[in-house]
Amino acid sequence: MATEFRTVGIVGGGTAGYLTALALRKKLPHLRVTLIESPDIPIIGVGEGTTPIMVKFLHAYLERDVHELFRAVRPTWKFGVKFEWGPPGDSFFNYAFHPGPVLDSVYYGGDFNEYSLGSLLISEERAPILADEGGRLTSLVDRIPFAYHLDNGRFVTYLREQAERDGVERLERSVTAFVPAENGEGLDHLVTDDGEERRFDLYVDCTGFRSAIMGEALGSPFHDYGDSLFCDRAIVANVPHGGHVKPFTTAETMAAGWCWNTPSVEDDHRGYVFSSRFLDDEAAAAEMRARNPGMGEHRVIRFRTGRREHFWKGNVVAVGNSYGFVEPLESTGLHMIILEINQLVLNFPRSRRDVAIRGIVNRTLNAHWDDVRWFLAVHYRFNRRLDTPFWETCRNEADIGGAEERVALFRERAPLTYRQSQFFKPEEVFGDFAYDVLLLGQRVPGRYLEASQSRVEWGKRTEGLRRLAARALTQERAFEALAQAPPQALGALVSSPNTWAVWP
Ligand SMILES: Cc1cc2nc3c(=O)[nH]c(=O)nc-3n(C[C@H](O)[C@H](O)[C@H](O)COP(=O)(O)OP(=O)(O)OC[C@H]3O[C@@H](n4cnc5c(N)ncnc54)[C@H](O)[C@@H]3O)c2cc1C
Repeated sequence: MATEFRTVGIVGGGTAGYLTALALRKKLPHLRVTLIESPDIPIIGVGEGTTPIMVKFLHAYLERDVHELFRAVRPTWKFGVKFEWGPPGDSFFNYAFHPGPVLDSVYYGGDFNEYSLGSLLISEERAPILADEGGRLTSLVDRIPFAYHLDNGRFVTYLREQAERDGVERLERSVTAFVPAENGEGLDHLVTDDGEERRFDLYVDCTGFRSAIMGEALGSPFHDYGDSLFCDRAIVANVPHGGHVKPFTTAETMAAGWCWNTPSVEDDHRGYVFSSRFLDDEAAAAEMRARNPGMGEHRVIRFRTGRREHFWKGNVVAVGNSYGFVEPLESTGLHMIILEINQLVLNFPRSRRDVAIRGIVNRTLNAHWDDVRWFLAVHYRFNRRLDTPFWETCRNEADIGGAEERVALFRERAPLTYRQSQFFKPEEVFGDFAYDVLLLGQRVPGRYLEASQSRVEWGKRTEGLRRLAARALTQERAFEALAQAPPQALGALVSSPNTWAVWP
């Protein structure tokens, strides 16, 4: 007889564990969800840049109150990534979440970054809260897509409180044994450090890089992305920002990798992602310190990029770093966690006979991870900013495999977004616009199409955008103004009928 799935045991209390628990309680409230987290094994403690899908997930999918999130987590806005990347010199290009006609600005204005208001907000370091001369505010939070920078500690604390409020059972215990089922196709039970055997219908491995269930207990093979992505370490530290909170993530080219900046309200959170084949930890720390006066204590994190063969094996699914990980060049960690959770919820098994779906879900999510791999590799293959041994190796050897065809298409007729091709699927993690920005931004040569509008149309549009950007407040002033403004100014993100922050 078919067995109903009613109990879920999640092992791990990082962002993967808590976001999964919240989604299961919200969307499948008949489930009894238990989250087991070790008091002795710390969470990874980084993972702060996100993509707009996080804003949609928190407020539209999980229906978390936007004001409460701002009070508890104090996120900062991210309108995209500013890449200090591409040709030699000190130019930059913006990958804004607010798309626009990327080539027209190059043709008519010579400045690639004027394609949208979101991109102008990055260049001008402003937020979409406008003030007129009388001090009256206009909020455009529902119009300009953004993501959050989330302080990892505050975010996990918030998620834990939300999970408890939503009826997730929490156990602070280390799991000392993961006992596979006799057929090897899943788990039979767990043993916690109080000696208890614990059984669930479905297990979710959120144990981070350990991949204690999917990797260690079930032996799902690891597919290494090392031929595309050469970095394997990060040095992380905080740097004072003097009160100015940049509304974007920075990705700055460094001698053997790159350095992120994800600003928090208190200070800048920076991390140098580098390859230990080309630089040792001390030299990397020294390079980072030289570029960041006032840098605090640092720590070194080691990682391996790649994914497991299975997201779902038997009665186990793996969400977060236990399934796959790539460096945070496009903030894909939390993005992928959300895609993984969405697949789990949509395809949650009803009975033990629900097996055919596993292969399809595995194929879908594996393909998403591989798309991420290829897209990140494109960042490395075409960056000509520095002539160090690391970057020369990237330009010559980084495998962009699954992206080759799209890059060839760009070279023949760029940008990709102007040809309105039907070749690439909308469910891809990074679509044509992302490729256009990365390839045009790095000045990858191609045969360019006509502009999408006349010079006069472009001039009018750009003038309008510049006028709006000139009225926009800095992020720190916008937060002060919102604290005094009616709740609607921020609440429009959720309540506006035209908001971009809807769950697809
Ligand atoms: C250097 C770096 C920078 C990153 N930057 C970003 C970024 O900017 N944006 C982004 O989206 N992502 C980023 N990530 C990825 C992001 O941090 C993770 O994807 C995310 O935090 C999810 O982590 P996790 O929950 O899978 O694992 P963890 O946070 O490692 O949590 C693992 C949990 O499992 C528990 N556990 C382990 N073993 C046991 C056991 N035997 N018994 C009980 N409990 C156990 C631990 O106690 C812990 O609670 C970054 C990652 C790294 C390494």
